[in-house]
Amino acid sequence: MKISSNFDSGNIEVINADDPAHIRLRIPYDAGDEFMQWFHFRLNGAKDQDCTIIIEDLDKSAYPSGWEGYRACASYDRETWFRVDTDFDGEEMTIRHTPQLDTVWFAYFAPYTRERHHDLIAKCQLHPRVRHEVVGETLDGEDMDLLVVGDDYADDRLKLWAIARQHPGETMAEWWMEGFLTRLLDDHDPVSRELLQRAVFYVVPNMNPDGSRRGHLRTNAAGANLNREWATPSLERSPEVYWVEKKMREIGLDFCLDVHGDEGLPYNFIAGADAIPDCPQRLIDLREAFEANLRRVSPDFQSEHGYPPKAAGEANLTYASTHIQNTFQALTMTLEMPFKDTVDTPDYFQGWSPERSQKLGASCLDAIWGILPDIKG
Ligand SMILES: [Zn+2]
Repeated sequence: MKISSNFDSGNIEVINADDPAHIRLRIPYDAGDEFMQWFHFRLNGAKDQDCTIIIEDLDKSAYPSGWEGYRACASYDRETWFRVDTDFDGEEMTIRHTPQLDTVWFAYFAPYTRERHHDLIAKCQLHPRVRHEVVGETLDGEDMDLLVVGDDYADDRLKLWAIARQHPGETMAEWWMEGFLTRLLDDHDPVSRELLQRAVFYVVPNMNPDGSRRGHLRTNAAGANLNREWATPSLERSPEVYWVEKKMREIGLDFCLDVHGDEGLPYNFIAGADAIPDCPQRLIDLREAFEANLRRVSPDFQSEHGYPPKAAGEANLTYASTHIQNTFQALTMTLEMPFKDTVDTPDYFQGWSPERSQKLGASCLDAIWGILPDIKG
């Protein structure tokens, strides 16, 4: 029997893998030694044997409540990810599974690899309305990819931004991007067609390539949590934010969606930036209209459960959403999807999944279409 993680976004430390009934593992910390939660490994050589996999020390993980009611993801073909029996006692998580084949992969959520990212960029650039731009480089020397969708030479167009995966372990955010971009590039889709008559989309499908490949939950190669870097990004610590923020200033911005996953809450929800200093009522109304539209088109989305709202003027301006909304006075929202499942609309086999993330991405285009006439105020 062998457990390994020396591959794209792999992350596990083996303590004991001699006996399938008593496998003990630990999750290595992200660079920066602050966060630990993302795991991704494969197990070979235990076909038809009852495996008990214990992951230790999760009381020290970034979000211990994330393991309550959580079931681990597994796959034989790395395409379909299903959920397996998982328990958490406050300290250790126990995964029980009897592999039906020689090799089975396990992960915190269905991984989204760097190779798949390149495939997405390649597929999109084939469309005549897409431009692919490299806006900068990460600390590990990866490209920061920007897709420009629409006729950006026409200066009467609205400038709509979408960014994802500042937190690299939140892979559902890039699955969301696939659904969003695929529908946007569907020439037969009437909503996409009309959106592109009036707007240009600036899309960064992966804000944190280094953390993604390294198998981090939250940080980049320097150990920076990118969603706390927007007030003062630097080339030394957070070049990913530095380059994208600079580009936003160059191009302009009328709307931005920052796509994430949440470890604890079993819901899809929006975290608004209403608490920026002197937030115009117009932007609060616009956010509410966006959410109402999204609820109408996607029963997987809701607005009842989410983060407790901050008092007016109390926003932390180091976040992407608050910094961008404050800087551009344009609607900017954080969209959160669950690692677990949506409790109101559960799927026992897969939980929240790549497929459902893609559908939500596609639905967000309807929600944007609904508020388009009011985006600029
Ligand atoms: Zn996040």
